[in-house]
Amino acid sequence: MSEIGAKIVELLTALMTVITAVVTPNWAALIGLLPLFIAPLVVLWFLSTTGAWTLVAITKRGPRLAPRDEAPVPAARAADGTPIYPAGRPYSARRAEVYPAGSVRDRQGLPLSLACPGCGAVRLAEISTCAGCGMEIRQRSVMQLERPSGPPAGGSANA
Ligand SMILES: [Zn+2]
Repeated sequence: MSEIGAKIVELLTALMTVITAVVTPNWAALIGLLPLFIAPLVVLWFLSTTGAWTLVAITKRGPRLAPRDEAPVPAARAADGTPIYPAGRPYSARRAEVYPAGSVRDRQGLPLSLACPGCGAVRLAEISTCAGCGMEIRQRSVMQLERPSGPPAGGSANA
């Protein structure tokens, strides 16, 4: 009987030790382990956001700027057949073609001419200031914003 009682007391003591460890844990040791629980969460968050932004950067295609390559147009002709060049637009007198604003060379690489819109003096298109009247023309090549031709598939297109 006393042997069974001693066993029961021993069992209860062991049980109380386990319950004590669960109910009142060693907080100092747990606080010491806190970085081990937080560090993986921070790493996971960093990897997920970085991965998400990398996916966005790879898959989302934004608008791109590209210099517009406008073809020269033939100059308008007067009644007697002489070409008319609009003032302020570069032109090639050799080929009677008017080039888009900002062009300084023709397709063969030869310099273009430009009539001053202020005084009508003709000069090279690559010279920005008119020698006759001092009017300055700063022309930049025309940039074209390349966009997708329409909205992405879906929405009302599916309906
Ligand atoms: Zn001028």
